[in-house]
Amino acid sequence: MTVEQFIAWMSGFAAKVDAEKDVLTALDSAIGDADHGTNLHRGMTAVVAALSSAEPATVAEAAKLVGMKLVSTVGGASGPLYGTFFIRFAQTADFPTAFRSGVEGVAARGKASPGDKTMLDALIPAADALERGASVAEAAGAAAAGRDSTIPLVARKGRASYLGERSAGHQDPGATSAALLVEAAAQALS
Ligand code: ADP
Ligand code: MG
Repeated sequence: MTVEQFIAWMSGFAAKVDAEKDVLTALDSAIGDADHGTNLHRGMTAVVAALSSAEPATVAEAAKLVGMKLVSTVGGASGPLYGTFFIRFAQTADFPTAFRSGVEGVAARGKASPGDKTMLDALIPAADALERGASVAEAAGAAAAGRDSTIPLVARKGRASYLGERSAGHQDPGATSAALLVEAAAQALS
């Protein structure tokens, strides 16, 4: 991935978050506190501005900047988690390895496992697909299937877990934004 492709990925993700922020917030209003769309929108607006003023020369530099911006601007559980994804992504070279490393960072930080009804349920299938040598578009399909798989699950992490059994029957907001992230990567790399 070139730095231009990385920046295109972030602009594309910001555009998707902008278009879907009401959907993300509506999903979070069902099983959380109705701020996921506004949280991420605030973060990605700051990310796009920071990338355009800093003009990073490498993917590592750009990803580190994105991670730090997300931690400092998003707030909520998802800010430190997405921030950690990019800080860890910055530390490795090729896309599948960097992506896996980012996902492992999210898992370590949030202490969540597959099936806990979190963003990991979209991110882990995408990392698995990339590691098998699938295209980024196929990884985006795996993330979307993972997002859909959160609907029947009972949340075991984050605010949604306070609802217990009542969290079942709702799509996880973080898994929904994570699927947008992978879809944006597929578009930036095609
Ligand atoms: P908050 O829950 O603090 O309001 P957001 O609404 O921005 O934060 O994000 C909620 C999303 O964060 C959830 O839908 C879930 O996907 C993700 N999430 C919450 N806790 C964890 C965790 N421990 N590990 C992984 N993802 C988590
Ligand atoms: Mg929330």
